[in-house]
Amino acid sequence: MKKIDILAVGAHPDDVELGVGGILASAIRMGSRVGVVDLTRGELASRGEVEIRSKEAQKAAEILGVTWRKNLKLPDRGIEICPENIILLTKLIRCSRPLIVLAPYYLDIHPDHVQTSKLVRQAWFDSGLKKYVSG
Ligand SMILES: [Zn+2]
Repeated sequence: MKKIDILAVGAHPDDVELGVGGILASAIRMGSRVGVVDLTRGELASRGEVEIRSKEAQKAAEILGVTWRKNLKLPDRGIEICPENIILLTKLIRCSRPLIVLAPYYLDIHPDHVQTSKLVRQAWFDSGLKKYVSG
């Protein structure tokens, strides 16, 4: 996994674009390398199907010029703060070594956004613990 400057994590495939798309576009234009992680495929969304959302996410990544984009395929409305998910994200942070990690604000009406915020916070913290083994 390529090293990046900024890691942006969202619960659903369009969250990063809606939340920080402008920030990422500006940062990339100024030379930053950006990675995007979608935790779920958004399979429970009221609008759009998984296949279409996946294609849209890839197209958005191309337009923005992100270095890489990954979907962890966690269950929509089932993002758990559990050791497995923390380790998954901790490994990703350790491998890509971002200087900045962006996550949803922790106060949000959508429970998946709140869970994503908490999960990213724990993984980011654990990624800096030398004795924390992530496998
Ligand atoms: Zn969302």
